[in-house]
Amino acid sequence: QKMGLNEIRSRFLKFFESKDHYVRESYSLIPNNDKSLLLVSAGMAPLKNYFSGVEVPPSKRMSTCQKCIRTGDIENVGITARHATFFEMLGNFSFGDYFKRESIKWGWEFVTEHLNMPVDKIWVTVYENDDEAYDIWSNEMNFPKERIVKLGKDDNFWEIGIGPCGPCSEMYFDRGEEYGCDNPDCKPGCDCDRYLEFWNHVFTQFNRDEEGNYNQLENKNIDTGMGLERIGCIMQGVDTIFEVDTIKSILNAVEKVANVEYGKNPKNDMSIRVITDHIRAVSFLVGDGVLPSNEGRGYVLRRLLRRAARHGKLLGIKQSFLYELVDEVIKVSGEAYPVLVEKESYIKKVIRIEEEKFSETIDQGSEILNSYIEELKKLGNKTLSGENAFKLYDTYGFPIDLTKEILEEENLLVDEVSFNEEMEKQKQRARTARGNMDAESWKEDPLSKLDTSISSKFDGYEVLDMTGKV
Ligand code: ATP
Ligand code: MG
Ligand code: MG
Ligand code: MG
Repeated sequence: QKMGLNEIRSRFLKFFESKDHYVRESYSLIPNNDKSLLLVSAGMAPLKNYFSGVEVPPSKRMSTCQKCIRTGDIENVGITARHATFFEMLGNFSFGDYFKRESIKWGWEFVTEHLNMPVDKIWVTVYENDDEAYDIWSNEMNFPKERIVKLGKDDNFWEIGIGPCGPCSEMYFDRGEEYGCDNPDCKPGCDCDRYLEFWNHVFTQFNRDEEGNYNQLENKNIDTGMGLERIGCIMQGVDTIFEVDTIKSILNAVEKVANVEYGKNPKNDMSIRVITDHIRAVSFLVGDGVLPSNEGRGYVLRRLLRRAARHGKLLGIKQSFLYELVDEVIKVSGEAYPVLVEKESYIKKVIRIEEEKFSETIDQGSEILNSYIEELKKLGNKTLSGENAFKLYDTYGFPIDLTKEILEEENLLVDEVSFNEEMEKQKQRARTARGNMDAESWKEDPLSKLDTSISSKFDGYEVLDMTGKV
């Protein structure tokens, strides 16, 4: 019997509970009081104030399974085996309590004794100047030196500007040659999917100051992150994270609604994987209170939803279908994330309205974009003007990224500089039209007026669209 995602999640949390960690449910995807961050992208993000000492943690040891969104990985989704825009990150954290030794020891213990991962397939990396971590792995853990890879700052040192930072040690699983690449030096850290990175241990031991000096922190911290889907992929021996038990059932639901079989045609498979990933992201985002808009988080949501809708069209789906897939997402994740169950009808409604709205315009927009593309090709021109790209965006609701993506498929580009100029002009016009009303409070207002009890379709989509743009 293969270990399922829900089982792995609970084993992980129980394990760290047994090591005296305070286990807390996932924080929202919307960061609380953190203006530097659009969406939570790692388990440590909601705990930043505990790391920096600004706030006192409820316990010096914590463990979570955190919902994460990484839009930076959007282009990888469906292409690599290991990237999703939405994923769950398991983590254990120490705020000035235990450090490298325990983190490595427990990581090893969990993976080898509780998941029974084959020991000889595991590789680890350390930061090239971190002799302490190297020693712990090689001498204290007796980990074979041949499978310890030293990597440089780019890969194995975690820092963002000034503040707490430090070296990392990552655990990889060798999936075998058949997953490898042509690089003769293929090893952990290579971008292919043979050595699958699954667990990053960050040792925050320095504070970087304004002058660029690294000073030892008085309270050294541990921040680890392990992708649940990746562990599932390894434990279940499947090719990609999209074929892991619970995610596979969403993928199957996509196959069914599209009436297309997975594994028959690479182009269709790509679309199926994208929809599978994006519908998870979209369901969780709406569940946490994000609404489609043309800015910020709302734009992330809109972009994911419209991208999924477009891949639905590519698969030949004629009707709205995304909202129907929510059932499957809730079926597999509702127990771990009750908010999905509580907001089921609301989530479906928001998705359905946005999908229908997009559907009305996408056909028209696609036709126009196609005519632009033909014209460019006829003229031997490579770049779509910002003006035309803006027209698509403004009149047909085509997110600029979608335009870019479609153009890229034809080896064409968008003039982004002039697109941004058009955008700026339009903002100016909107500002003038609104008078000097405080834009921020105006934007947030519709949110507070919506609740989950709204029972029938909103009669005006404008209510949902925080920018007021239809
Ligand atoms: P990669 O190099 O594969 O892109 P990363 O080094 O960017 O991963 P970290 O920032 O170290 O990832 O995040 C910690 C863990 O979270 C990773 O080891 C991995 O298991 C998981 N993870 C990171 N990004 C993703 C993603 N896009 N989809 C699924 N899991 C992810
Ligand atoms: Mg990455
Ligand atoms: Mg990495
Ligand atoms: Mg990493």
